[in-house]
Amino acid sequence: KKITIAIDGFSSTGKSTVAKGLAKKLGYVYVDTGAMYRAVTLYMMRKLFVTETNFNKESIIRHLPFVSLRFKYNEEKGFAEIYLNNENVEKEIRYLEVSQQVSKVSTISEVRKMLVKQQQEMGKEKGVVMDGRDIGTVVFPNAELKLFMTASTEKRAQRRYDELVERGDEVEFEDVLKNVKDRDYMDSTRDDSPLIKADDAIEIDNSDMNLEEQFDKILKIVND
Ligand code: C5P
Repeated sequence: KKITIAIDGFSSTGKSTVAKGLAKKLGYVYVDTGAMYRAVTLYMMRKLFVTETNFNKESIIRHLPFVSLRFKYNEEKGFAEIYLNNENVEKEIRYLEVSQQVSKVSTISEVRKMLVKQQQEMGKEKGVVMDGRDIGTVVFPNAELKLFMTASTEKRAQRRYDELVERGDEVEFEDVLKNVKDRDYMDSTRDDSPLIKADDAIEIDNSDMNLEEQFDKILKIVND
């Protein structure tokens, strides 16, 4: 019987890697909700409603109806990539510049309302692994399995840094570490749907676990 799996946690805890792998092993659909918040942010940055010095909440809200998001499966990569108004933005949304603005845009209730609705629609059928910050608490409070991933701040920053360097982005470790800390703070202190562990979520600290160990542990839970 297919179920809904909600994976939440702080930035760069390896949620998406685990979620992607689980979806593949179980034949489930994977939905990266962070990519949706990032794509909205990218759109608003291009319009200059969000810059280093400017945050125009009114304009952001007014332009939400012009943001259309879609996931399209990429055979080669083995997961679904995100399209913003029919443009593949999978790479661009991961730039540090976007990471530095996304948590601020994510505080806006209107943004959350729109994306939560789309996420609930995408997960209507069971057999979904969704990762984010509020999946087990807001999007699917009735998910059969909820995981809450944690890892030390340094480990998380190192992972994110390695990822960005690997794809050729020029970044400083200190900036990535600061971004991880800033997002932790903003994500867990915002008024609307702050990041908290759902009461019935199982916490997994993967600071010292490799991917196989994590799958073993989680698949054991799934099969119970
Ligand atoms: O998962 P990822 O790190 O790509 O998410 C980027 C940002 O999007 C988070 O730091 C958070 O501010 C926001 N987000 C959110 N709710 C979600 C997923 C992401 O607020 N469900």
